[in-house]
Amino acid sequence: MPHTLSAGISVGNSGISVWKNIKNPILSELTGDLAASNTVAVFTSISSFEELGGPSGKLHGRIYTTDRKYVYQDFGDTQSSLQLPNMSSWWNNWFLRSQTVVTCDAPDNLDICAESTIVTDMRSPIAQYGLLGALIGAVFGMILLLWWKGSHGLRAGLLEALQKRRIHVVYQPLRVLETNEVVGAEALARWTHQEVGPIPPTTFIGWIEKLGLRAEFTRYVVVAALDGALGRLRGRENFYVSINVFPGDLEDASFLDFMTDETARRGIDPARVVLEISESAQFSTPTPNDILQLFRARGFRIFLDDFGVGYSNFGNVVSWKLDGIKLDRVFIQSIGETQRAAPVMEKIIEMARQLDVQVIVEGIETQAQADYILDRMPHAVGQGWLTGRPGSALDAI
Ligand code: C2E
Ligand code: MG
Ligand code: MG
Repeated sequence: MPHTLSAGISVGNSGISVWKNIKNPILSELTGDLAASNTVAVFTSISSFEELGGPSGKLHGRIYTTDRKYVYQDFGDTQSSLQLPNMSSWWNNWFLRSQTVVTCDAPDNLDICAESTIVTDMRSPIAQYGLLGALIGAVFGMILLLWWKGSHGLRAGLLEALQKRRIHVVYQPLRVLETNEVVGAEALARWTHQEVGPIPPTTFIGWIEKLGLRAEFTRYVVVAALDGALGRLRGRENFYVSINVFPGDLEDASFLDFMTDETARRGIDPARVVLEISESAQFSTPTPNDILQLFRARGFRIFLDDFGVGYSNFGNVVSWKLDGIKLDRVFIQSIGETQRAAPVMEKIIEMARQLDVQVIVEGIETQAQADYILDRMPHAVGQGWLTGRPGSALDAI
């Protein structure tokens, strides 16, 4: 529904108008600053900082989803964000304070938390947190902007992005940890909105399902992923492309034929195509395994993504016949952080071994994490910043 704003303050001849401290037309409990230009409006949410109040010092911030699985943005040095600087004397100790504020908001299932930690030197009069406020505000702004444009605008925007091929696919290498050999790559969708800029997949993938664009989107990604990797997929070396799909795709009988036709048309062996299905995915059918087996019977392989965190149907999935499981990155990333995580990781590794499937360990960022897996599962395949970031140039993999 259109919303009429009072006259704003024009900023020079930039075409941008600003409003100070106005009530947010979508979330009436928020009051903040607004900047707008043509069809774009950005809100700055100041609610994350209300509790900071005092004089400031060193700042760290993080914007993430409530389950902490996806970090939209980090600001400052988050590594040291939980520690106070070395305090040489009781004197410094008295002057330095650390304070963390967490604010979570989930308007209409948009899932976002902002955490800001400030190490305050009471002697420093410089109020630096305004900068962090602006940055976090920009991220909130992006989310709110798209929401404000309404589901019609959003649906049209996503459809246009698909039609004009503005969504593209990048590939992240999958390497055997022991040999560093590349065995495949995961295709990951990227969308850079013309006005807003890059939008995280965890955000727009949710909209795609909600706005009824799932079938178009998945087919678009499949075609882009196959075409982009054609040389490697037809080549003699073993190489597969791993594509994320929704349960609804697998339940749609025409998708199986679509996959068969698209691979046959390109001369690709279906065994070179992996379909990844999230462990937390909700099927409508009471017998998802039957559907998975239809795809396997045609030669496609099925990997279970995000293994270990989709508690809801964990009991069922261990009985499914699968070709691989991808251990969610929360497991590997907990190694080293807390001793309590180690036994859980050991159990997960043991369970993976008993299921006798290929294991892909997601989110390997450090050599220490790779060594931990190498000691226990040398044949495991690794996927993470350490072995290669998602990128468009498959040749470089
Ligand atoms: P996913 O399928 O579990 O993909 C792995 C995600 O982990 C990717 O995030 C990847 O960039 C990220 N990642 C890989 N290595 C590391 C690491 O070492 N550290 C950290 N922190 N992250 C790492 P991305 O590309 O943002 O995608 C997020 C999720 O969005 C994917 O999780 C998948 O569930 C969904 N997604 C992405 N592309 C598609 C798509 O084409 N179709 C569908 N249905 N879902 C997609
Ligand atoms: Mg995946
Ligand atoms: Mg995953």
